[in-house]
Amino acid sequence: MTAKQPKPGELDPIETASRDEIAALQLQRLQWSISHAYNNVAHFRAKCDAKGVHPDDLKTLADLSRFPFTTKLDLRDNYPFGLFAVPRDQVSRVHASSGTTGQPIVVGYTREDIDTWANLMARSIRAAGGRPGDICHVAYGYGLFTGGLGAHYGAERLGCLVVPMSGGQTEKQVQLIQDFKPSIIMVTPSYSLVIAEEFERLGIAPEEISLKIGIFGAEPWGQGMRREIEKKLGLDAIDIYGLTEVMGPGVACECIESKDGLVVWEDHFYPEIINPETGEVLPDGEQGELVFTSLTKQAMPVIRYRTRDLTRLLPPTSRSFRRMDRITGRSDDMLIIRGVNVFPTQIEEQILRDKRLGGTYQIFVSRDGHLDNVEVRCELQREVSGTLPQSDVAAIGKELQHHIKTIIGISTHITVLDHDSIPRTLTGKARRLIDERPKQI
Ligand code: ADP
Repeated sequence: MTAKQPKPGELDPIETASRDEIAALQLQRLQWSISHAYNNVAHFRAKCDAKGVHPDDLKTLADLSRFPFTTKLDLRDNYPFGLFAVPRDQVSRVHASSGTTGQPIVVGYTREDIDTWANLMARSIRAAGGRPGDICHVAYGYGLFTGGLGAHYGAERLGCLVVPMSGGQTEKQVQLIQDFKPSIIMVTPSYSLVIAEEFERLGIAPEEISLKIGIFGAEPWGQGMRREIEKKLGLDAIDIYGLTEVMGPGVACECIESKDGLVVWEDHFYPEIINPETGEVLPDGEQGELVFTSLTKQAMPVIRYRTRDLTRLLPPTSRSFRRMDRITGRSDDMLIIRGVNVFPTQIEEQILRDKRLGGTYQIFVSRDGHLDNVEVRCELQREVSGTLPQSDVAAIGKELQHHIKTIIGISTHITVLDHDSIPRTLTGKARRLIDERPKQI
């Protein structure tokens, strides 16, 4: 299934092909992928049979909507290798999700899948502005998490010099960035702030840092956070998206020239947006749950995988592929506070409107009788922390409370803390939301 690859650093011809060419390739690959899953994965075949659909029914791209969804539960129920579509001895690697929202799930890759992933990550880094010869510092965790190795193989494939630093050891991260002078960093947005703070602590100004491009993903982050990171590290902050079930990072990535949402690598992953309640496919432009079907994966094809991530599909700009808007959040992270739907990133946007507040925050939700209470803990920036009179700090909190109330529509209690009061996440994803309400059964 692999097409001829572009030379390192060049665009793949399909990135600028006509929409008709893309659709024709998608249909051909989709038919292959559905048949491959049907013929080789008993669980998928049983689901299709129960729904009365067969791969032969897929005559157009729109026919995909007749096929059953795959959810995280399907992966859990078939743990560890039950969804593999090739004999075990053709699987050359496994990864497992970080388990942000439950027990881990396992995915497998053939050698060719790893190759495709490396190509797509190389394409993503190229879109983000990276070129062969660049030094690329990888601070995503290495191991079962797809972030580190995904970034690593892609940067190597592009022809970069890779620094496989992994997460944690912040002082060493900064030391190596100082010594090796990478132009690219790949890391979670939350941990990039921790690295930025270490530079600040050492008195190193953003313009003295060698980094030019940051490729950030694995967790939701808003435009305010983009500005904050760009200011603190003196680089262009690019959004990259992916998930273990579908491949890992590199399913979609922003282009540096437009920074207008993530280009979905539609020649390998077919996106749909559905109404999460009814499962109905929504037209492009409408907000809903993102669903992906892999078009070329051999070891573990995924058909109509419900990501639980909320976004919308947008028309092509810098490439011929459609884009997806920044992820608002996962449906699991959506808080319903006294009937109002809220995502942590919405609160983040309000915090970062105030230049005196930093990008590290936590949201605590508790229940008092029948009422939900939300406390937002945020921090002063280093340069103002400890210098402002108490009345100013109180005014910052009051103003934030007012913005959250008028713009998002919920009442909150705000705690403005000194710099460095909230524990930092040094590896993996930041834990922004602490929901202490009793679980609904
Ligand atoms: P887990 O589900 O255990 O967190 P993954 O490490 O595979 O496992 O994480 C994938 C998820 O991370 C995505 O479904 C999405 O919720 C989130 N994610 C990844 N990249 C981004 C991004 N750029 N913006 C927002 N969320 C992202």
